[in-house]
Amino acid sequence: MNSASRMPARPGTVAVWGGDAGQWPGRATQVPVVHSVSFGYEDVDTWFDVAMGRVPGHIYGRNTNPTVEAFEEKVRLLEGAEAATSFSTGMAAISNTLFTLLHPGDRVVSIKDSYGGTSLLFLEFLPRFNIEVALCETTDHEAIEAEIARGCQLLYLESPTNPTLKVLDLERLIASAHRHGALVVVDNTFATPINQSPLALGADLVIHSATKFLGGHADALGGVACGSKPLIDQLFHFREVNGATLHPEAAYLLLRGMKTLDLRIQRQNASALAIAQFLEQHAAVAHVYYPGLASHPGHAIAMRQMRGFGGVVSFAIHGGFEAVRTMLPRLRYAHLAANLGAVETVAGPPRTTSHVELSSDEREALGIPEALIRYSVGIEDVNDLVADLDGALGAAGQAAAAR
Ligand SMILES: *Cc1c(COP(=O)(O)O)cnc(C)c1O
Repeated sequence: MNSASRMPARPGTVAVWGGDAGQWPGRATQVPVVHSVSFGYEDVDTWFDVAMGRVPGHIYGRNTNPTVEAFEEKVRLLEGAEAATSFSTGMAAISNTLFTLLHPGDRVVSIKDSYGGTSLLFLEFLPRFNIEVALCETTDHEAIEAEIARGCQLLYLESPTNPTLKVLDLERLIASAHRHGALVVVDNTFATPINQSPLALGADLVIHSATKFLGGHADALGGVACGSKPLIDQLFHFREVNGATLHPEAAYLLLRGMKTLDLRIQRQNASALAIAQFLEQHAAVAHVYYPGLASHPGHAIAMRQMRGFGGVVSFAIHGGFEAVRTMLPRLRYAHLAANLGAVETVAGPPRTTSHVELSSDEREALGIPEALIRYSVGIEDVNDLVADLDGALGAAGQAAAAR
């Protein structure tokens, strides 16, 4: 497969073939891991032409690398973008994007439920550079539009959010930002390009923590941003200078993981919906947060803008944090860990993962109950996961009754 014109359009096929179309040494069918830091030339003129961008090629590993480039190409094709560039982590992608696009005196509008690291950038770091950040109630679309109308250079969104899976009407908010001349960045980590295409909904840039669903195996950190060539060129230029480069070994692991992206996400979508429905009727469960449930306040929007509802289900159980403490260690098929999007199920309370730095009052104010569990569904047999949850919930119920 080495002709771009034969590149198929459907995501399941792009996940397998996209970016792999290079001419690799020895006719290798798999993308090689190129560890070389520098790339040599036979004459100074060719070297100069490559350096000036007149001829394709690589010069130095902080800037570009063939394995890393193949990873960027696969994500670019999946997101339907003109260009893509990668970073050492998801947070590197987010911080590079914000520090590339923003200037002192600028104003950013975003939501209270952004990913923890992103929130810290908004609250702690951007204000140091005289950049004002307005964080709105996440699903209050009128409030977000009012802040946009007050003037802003950048609208930063995430949907569904972590950990309570709130859903934003991306098309509506993007259109509102564009009417006021602002750029729109969307973190698409939870949805993945299989379930949601923010660029098609009008966003200027889409960002991923590739560490999560894209890689899917919890063995490599990475980040990526996709968008128009002029915007990606700006991000690339800043990343070349600050050096938050994706390692070729990580790029290879992410590329390999992404071959099964469509397969994994289809499975996780189906299993997560079945688990959400099971939990919703369980006596030990107080509330289930999953955009695929008709009871979810963002369900109608999710039906319009998503092709599947994703692999993360959050739920609150009766009995407070004591019950969480009893229940979680009884899960046989879940790592209790601060991660999501892997082939193995991962479970944890936001109290020890995404929102560890907040007090319980601050978490309550964000609508995150103390007894909330974030459950990232893996690719195990769903019947085993349901039985596992049922057993652990039963044990928590019995312990509560005995107290
Ligand atoms: C994990 C995560 C990030 C940060 O990614 P890292 O690869 O851990 O730096 C950003 N956004 C979301 C939604 C995430 O889940």
